[in-house]
Amino acid sequence: MAKVAFLGLGVMGYPMAGHLKAKGGHEVTVYNRTAAKAVAWVKQHGGRAAATPREAAAGQDFVFVCVGNDDDLRQVVLGADGALAGMVAGSILVDHTTASADVARELHAAAGEAGVGFVDAPVSGGQAGAENGVLTVMCGGDLSAYARAEPVIAAFARMCRLMGPAGSGQLTKMVNQICIAGLVQALSEGVAFGQKAGLDVEAVIEVISKGAAQSWQMENRYKTMNAGQFEFGFAVDWMRKDLSICMAEARRNGARLPVTALVDQFYSDVQAMGGSRWDTSSLVARLK
Ligand code: NAP
Repeated sequence: MAKVAFLGLGVMGYPMAGHLKAKGGHEVTVYNRTAAKAVAWVKQHGGRAAATPREAAAGQDFVFVCVGNDDDLRQVVLGADGALAGMVAGSILVDHTTASADVARELHAAAGEAGVGFVDAPVSGGQAGAENGVLTVMCGGDLSAYARAEPVIAAFARMCRLMGPAGSGQLTKMVNQICIAGLVQALSEGVAFGQKAGLDVEAVIEVISKGAAQSWQMENRYKTMNAGQFEFGFAVDWMRKDLSICMAEARRNGARLPVTALVDQFYSDVQAMGGSRWDTSSLVARLK
């Protein structure tokens, strides 16, 4: 049993923090910018809510963060009221935000100066993965910090692995998002084609998902794509944030991402259609 803080009780963070308490048996303190969510979490799970990241982080063995983007992460971790200001030497900061590899390296250095270990640990598996405690966690950082964090992360993970030094978790998550972007566009084109061809799309997918075209996106999204339902899941705004991180990294490392760049523009069409908070499978909507 460890003393842990969780900062950021969004779609992902709220259930992840819940698993640390219920499944991990840890002593959990939560912080959320909009305090009402922290109050609701404590009402549901017990534990304690703190008024600032610094207060939440004070005296903890581990501090977990899951906020929006690089700037949000800096706000929560650095500065006078940030988590690092409250953390004691020997404790470990684990960041589950999908962010850049640069900010991971920056926070690793800042944490190191305070004698704090840092693991960048973005996740995959979506809202359902967080709620069911079966996320995939891709980590970067020093082996010593990772080895201590892994058994605690296990409360909400099905797969957790150290991929290399600081930033490697974020780079692995970029590969994940690159693989998903083109695939969802192809799936959208398949569904839209099937509809135009007058096929029973549900029957089509039931058949082809048993063959080489199978994917997580196909199995989990075909029904809602066929029905034109997108008010759930992983938001288009978040996906565009992730793809812009991928493309910035590719500009530095020389990788070519032609399809990813195109799909990013398709997502800007979805935003213009009012779909900023729609699930990423809404690419099919712009084919109508
Ligand atoms: P979300 O529901 O929008 O929650 C974001 C959380 O971060 C909220 O608790 C928000 O506080 C907090 N936050 C944002 N900016 C902040 C700031 N400047 N200072 C303090 N707190 C701040 O997002 P989510 O879906 O949980 O996603 C969180 C991260 O996980 C993102 O990086 C996302 O890309 C990644 N991710 C999401 C999914 C998914 O399926 N949703 C899957 C994999 C990875 P408030 O409540 O006050 O707004």
